[in-house]
Amino acid sequence: SAAAIVHPADTRSDALRRLASTFVAEGVPEGDARFLMLGVLDLRAIDLALHGQRVLGPGEANRLEVAAQRRLSGEPVARILGAWEFWGLPFRLSPETLVPRPDTETLVEAALASIPDHAAPVRILDLGTGSGCILVALLSALPNATGIGLDRSWGALRTARANARDNGVAERAGFIAGDWCDALGAPFDRVVSNPPYIASPVIAGLDREVREHDPLAALDGGDDGLGAYRRIVGAVSRGLLATGGSLHLEIGYDQAEAVTDLGAATGLRPGGIMRDLAGHARVASF
Ligand code: GLN
Repeated sequence: SAAAIVHPADTRSDALRRLASTFVAEGVPEGDARFLMLGVLDLRAIDLALHGQRVLGPGEANRLEVAAQRRLSGEPVARILGAWEFWGLPFRLSPETLVPRPDTETLVEAALASIPDHAAPVRILDLGTGSGCILVALLSALPNATGIGLDRSWGALRTARANARDNGVAERAGFIAGDWCDALGAPFDRVVSNPPYIASPVIAGLDREVREHDPLAALDGGDDGLGAYRRIVGAVSRGLLATGGSLHLEIGYDQAEAVTDLGAATGLRPGGIMRDLAGHARVASF
């Protein structure tokens, strides 16, 4: 659009106010202005609170303006920044990785709740690791755990490795290419996955920001949305779990019964459903 939102002589506070009011007027969530500003200027919330009266530095107004225009044209903040927070940790993104969702923190919680001793040397497998956020969050919470993140996308594996490094767990994480668990032999104590689980016919009806900016391969679960679960429970029931091991799967809000049945049909013992903060069924455990 023609008129600039941010002016070169603005203070940080001025710029934030202008961004927020433009976003609200254009139907973009007000809070996005703050996330965008912190990310683009590489500030922490405290920098903004204590030094809001600082005038924008050279180039900062322009960077903010470019980012704001991208947001106004429908690109999510996480994609503009190429980074997003999950489980209180920073994660890089790439076009091959989903933006980590707060819902997925429920999967991390379910896996952690299944481990009585967080100092134990738990062996974790994360299927379809993407940005690596689930595995990295688990390894950061479990100081003696080790893990493997599997993905068939090279770009995702590169991103996941960088995220393990950034978050100080790289010595305990391995990332390998593979299509689900076909090539894996070793037993694991915990298998976790947030696989693609949207039924193909429903993809067209997703929010534009998801449909146009998240990778389809991470969303599309086939005709009935259950394709990846069939592969995973099949592999797990063929001996991927160590004695006393468990499987934790993120699921769509209406898939609890179907996924529980799939697991039970392959001989896995259902271990309950965990709900997310919105009250939706979000994780099926076995
Ligand atoms: N919860 C995601 C969404 O609604 C879907 C994630 C997935 O398919 N694993 O966009």
